[in-house]
Amino acid sequence: MTHNDHDCQGFATSSGGLPPAWRSHAARSLPRYTSYPTAVAFAPVEGDAEARKWLSAIGAEQTISAYVHVPFCRRLCWYCGCHTSVVHDNTRVAAYVGTLMHEVDLWADALPAHAGAAHLHFGGGSPNALSPEDFLALVRHMADRFSLRPGAEVAAELDPGMLSEAFIDAAGEAGVTRASLGVQTFDRAVQARVNRIQSFDQVAAAADRLRKVGVGAVNFDLMYGLPGQTPENVAASTEAAVTLRPDRVAVFGYAHVPWMKKHQVMIGEGDLADGDGRWAQAEAADSVLRGAGYLRIGLDHYALPGDPLALAAASGSLRRNFQGYTDDPAPVLVPVGPSSIGRLAAGFIQNAAATDVWSRAVEAGRLPVARSLPVTAEDELRAAVIERLMCDLTVDVGAECRDRGFETNALDAAVAAALALQADGLCRVEGRAVTIPEEAFRLMRVVAACFDAGLAPVERRHARAV
Ligand code: SF4
Repeated sequence: MTHNDHDCQGFATSSGGLPPAWRSHAARSLPRYTSYPTAVAFAPVEGDAEARKWLSAIGAEQTISAYVHVPFCRRLCWYCGCHTSVVHDNTRVAAYVGTLMHEVDLWADALPAHAGAAHLHFGGGSPNALSPEDFLALVRHMADRFSLRPGAEVAAELDPGMLSEAFIDAAGEAGVTRASLGVQTFDRAVQARVNRIQSFDQVAAAADRLRKVGVGAVNFDLMYGLPGQTPENVAASTEAAVTLRPDRVAVFGYAHVPWMKKHQVMIGEGDLADGDGRWAQAEAADSVLRGAGYLRIGLDHYALPGDPLALAAASGSLRRNFQGYTDDPAPVLVPVGPSSIGRLAAGFIQNAAATDVWSRAVEAGRLPVARSLPVTAEDELRAAVIERLMCDLTVDVGAECRDRGFETNALDAAVAAALALQADGLCRVEGRAVTIPEEAFRLMRVVAACFDAGLAPVERRHARAV
């Protein structure tokens, strides 16, 4: 049993900066908990027999989602942390789309009867590195082979600096319902320092045309922590962004991991803000967004009231997934494209990351799965606790244990670890209920990490908490 024996008042206000007691917590390298266990725990797997067996357990009443990875971009941003490469050869891209189509057929043939696809998500890289014709053909093929349901969400991440009118028109024709534009910053000096030049007018024109062709929702991604960013220019970029009234805004901190992403050596470590600076930048964006009427969702998302994400957050049905936060309740995620991660009831599967390995598997008629992780009942329990903390900032750990057939004290060691954070004001622990106070939301990963059984050996792989 744990006790609420600390006073958590007086640690931070929305304008108070990073409290000294939180500096070491903010500097911790932690997973983003877009899944639990995290992808670093996946193990190599030979062949596709396991994936086919796991797929066969899908019920006829279950909807599915699919994530498609496009590992190409038309330019390389120095801050990029994605699995991508720059491509100028259109023949190579077209060949890639041909293999993707084939892979879609393999998955569709391997799936048992299901209730159709509720959500298709195109990420990357940049899906708009594909030609408009190829993108349209790919979406149509997936809609056909995965039985896209009426009203399904079809979402695409797009690079607005490389987005042609023809591609936008194809997105409209393909029935894309939501586009996420990688805005990051409007500050020209910062853009120059990260090799991502794009004007406000380009972004405004893209958002406008997307809406005109019927893409009902337009999201923006913004960043803080880039070289040259300050609270002032982050606020200015955010103010400019909200004039275009995106439906959702995600605000991500730059993760400097040049030992994993070699091109990040183009960004000098000395040019980066320290923990206090990053905190102030994140607060600047938060303050502008909330002042403009956006609701904060989880760790780093904001949505206009009435957006499905805001409604899901209000009703307690918000989910955490590989794209961040979602209102998509589909229990099955089919991975398409190299490095894509899928989720089935029995566990996680991940496609081969190297495009040549992935394409050889597809050409041989094999599902291109290269890594997997069966999930245990305890994994599911820890995942549920972490997901509720990341979505709702509060969780009744004892109830989660009981609901999954565990003793209510099954995670008491983790609750005790959370209790140790209470003295610093990161959470309140009452009985087995753990709550992250509003002012500490940015450190929710630190609290979630208490419930992560596999964290210790892999901290260096992850980005700092803030
Ligand atoms: S467009 Fe996106 S995925 Fe491509 S290099 Fe830039 S940040 Fe990375």
